[in-house]
Amino acid sequence: MSKFERCPCASKALYHKCCKPFHDGTPAADALSLMRSRFAAYALGLADYIIDTTHSEHPEFSKERSNWKKSIETFSRATNFDHLTIEEFVDGDETATVTFTAHLRQGGNDATFGEKSFFVKENNRWFYKAGEVHCEKANA
Ligand SMILES: [Zn+2]
Repeated sequence: MSKFERCPCASKALYHKCCKPFHDGTPAADALSLMRSRFAAYALGLADYIIDTTHSEHPEFSKERSNWKKSIETFSRATNFDHLTIEEFVDGDETATVTFTAHLRQGGNDATFGEKSFFVKENNRWFYKAGEVHCEKANA
């Protein structure tokens, strides 16, 4: 991505001033930044970042890293990450939640969904621990 492109997390900020530092290894300061940077990582196909920011207790966590990585990459390639809207962010010292709507398209179909994500902080880093999908649109 060029320096002058907008961040795929839909912040309207430039990528290199938004989620790129997190993708390069800087710990996200809060769960909302982590959530946005994960959305951007999906959009960019940065599977390693998705894996490294997923908590080991998440139901989708897999020790089969190479298969997991492939499935993330396949999902990223098959999906357009059009927009992200944040509905609620409840911050805390060690746990936090972010409720959002991810506006996605897959093969021309609307694949938009809403989720409440649960995050935990361990060793000064935030991790995605669980998610509850709360409104899944039927494919139109
Ligand atoms: Zn961003």
